[in-house]
Amino acid sequence: MMDRYQVVVIGAGPGGYVCAIRAAQLGLKVALVDKDESLGGTCLNVGCIPSKAMLESSELYHAAATRMADHGIGIDGLSLDLAAMLARKDRVVDELTTGIAGLMKKNKVTVFHGLAQLTGPDSVRIAADVEPVEIAADHIVLATGSVPVELPFLPFDGEQIIDSTSALSLPEVPRHLVVIGAGAVGLELGSVWQRLGAEVTVVEMMPQITPFADKQVAKALERALKKQGLTIRTKTRVVSAEQGEDGVTLQLEDAKGKASEVTGDRVLVAVGRRPFTEGLGLPAAGLNPGPDGRIPVDAQLRTEVDGIWAIGDVVAGPMLAHKAEEDGVAVAEWIAGHAGHLDYGTIPSVVYTEPELAAVGLTEAEAKEQGVPVKAGRFYYRANGRAKAMGEEDGLVKILAHAETDELVGVHIVGARASELIAELVLAMEYRASAEDVARTVHAHPTLSEIVREAALAVDGRAIHA
Ligand code: FAD
Repeated sequence: MMDRYQVVVIGAGPGGYVCAIRAAQLGLKVALVDKDESLGGTCLNVGCIPSKAMLESSELYHAAATRMADHGIGIDGLSLDLAAMLARKDRVVDELTTGIAGLMKKNKVTVFHGLAQLTGPDSVRIAADVEPVEIAADHIVLATGSVPVELPFLPFDGEQIIDSTSALSLPEVPRHLVVIGAGAVGLELGSVWQRLGAEVTVVEMMPQITPFADKQVAKALERALKKQGLTIRTKTRVVSAEQGEDGVTLQLEDAKGKASEVTGDRVLVAVGRRPFTEGLGLPAAGLNPGPDGRIPVDAQLRTEVDGIWAIGDVVAGPMLAHKAEEDGVAVAEWIAGHAGHLDYGTIPSVVYTEPELAAVGLTEAEAKEQGVPVKAGRFYYRANGRAKAMGEEDGLVKILAHAETDELVGVHIVGARASELIAELVLAMEYRASAEDVARTVHAHPTLSEIVREAALAVDGRAIHA
C-alpha cells in the first residue's frame, strides 16, 4: 500500500518549502520532494542568497579600494582572496539550506530526495537509488521552479559561455566579462565581477536597463553603474557568436542596424529564466504546460486537475522568491480551508546593485497606458542628512499617487538601502494608503526613510528640504 499524505509538494524552493511548512502548521500531513540533496531550490543554492553573499563581499572589497580614503581610512596592501570569498559564499548557502532541513524536521514534514514524477492525478513516483518510492496525495502542489534560458547560438558550456550558476563560482576574475541582458541577474553578477577587477560590458536589447522599471530610476541606475566603470550598451542585439580559444566574439547590431563586435573571455547569458517541468510527467496527471511553458492555473493557483495546484516560477507572475513564498502560503491556506490571500499588484522588485533599485506598483508609463491619472513626488538622496553622512548621495525616491484620490499607485527608488526602504511602501499600498498618509507618518531623524516622507510631501509640492 502506498503511503498517503494530505499534501505532497514537489520542489523545495522558496515556493515549495514555505508551502510545506504552512500546510504542516495548519495540521496537515505533508511530504516535500526535491531532486536535489540540498533544500532551498534556486534561491538558496544558486540564486538570491549566493548572489547577495558575493555582492556583499565584492562591495566591501570595492569600498576598501575606492571609498575609505574619503573617510580618512588608509588601507595598504589590499588584496583579494577569491577562493576565500567563494568559500564564505558556500558557507552561507550551507548554513541556510541546512536550516531548511531543520525546519522540515521541526514541522514534521517528510522529505524525499529524488526526481518526482506524476503517475496520476493523486500519485507521485520518486526516483531513488535502489527502487522508486510511490506515494499518494489528496493534494499535490507543483513548485518545480525555473532554469536559465539558453540562446540557440550560444549554448552554455560552463567555461566561456556561462549561466548565472557558473557566474557565482568563477575560479578567477575574468579579464572581460560580457553580460547579455541588463535585468537584475545580469546587472548584479556583472557588478560583482566588475568590483573584483574585471572589465564588464553589458548588452541589452531594450531601450533601458532593468526593462521592468520606471524609466527615470532605470536611467539613474544606468548613470551610476557607468560611473563605476561598467560599459552598458542598450538598444543592442546579439545576432551571432564565434567561439575561439581566447574567448567569444559577439556580433552586435544596434537599433539603427549598425553592426559592431565585442569579445569577452567569458560571456554570461542572463536573458531570463524559463519554467521547469521536465521529467515531471504532467501528461500522466492530465496536465500540459501552456505555450509559454508555465503551468496554467486559475486565480487560486488551481490547475485544470482537481487537487493539483501550482506555485512560484512555474506559474504566471514575476519570477521572484517572495512571490513564490506568497503563492505557497496562500495555497496551503486554501487547501486547509482557510482564506488565503494573493495580490500580485504589491509585489516589490529589487535589483541589488550599488545603488540598489526597488519598485512596487505601476511605473509612470504603465499608469499612462492604463489611463490612471497620477501626480509624482520626487525627493533626492543628496538633500538627506543621513545619506550625506553615509556618503550615499546618489539616488531618488519617486512616489506616484492617484491624481484625484491621492492613493499610492507606484513607488520607485534608486539609491542606498532601496531594498529595505521599499517595505514601508509595500505595506502602505497593501493598506491602500495615500501619499498624505505616508507624509503624515513620523520618520526617525536622521534616516534614509525621511527621503520617502519627503517624496510623499513632494506629491503636493510640500517637501521641506527641497
Ligand atoms: P525554485 O527555487 O527554482 O525551486 C524549484 C525546486 O524544484 C528545485 O529545488 C528543483 O530541484 C526542484 N524540482 C524541479 N523539478 C523537480 C522534480 N520533478 N522532482 C523533484 N524536484 C524537482 N528572487 C528574488 O526574489 N530575489 C533575489 O534577490 C533573487 N536573486 C536571484 C539571483 C539569481 C542568480 C537567480 C538565478 C535567481 C534569483 N531570484 C531572486 C529568483 C528566485 O531564485 C526564484 O524566483 C525562486 O527561487 C523561485 O522559487 P520556486 O520555489 O518557484 O522555484
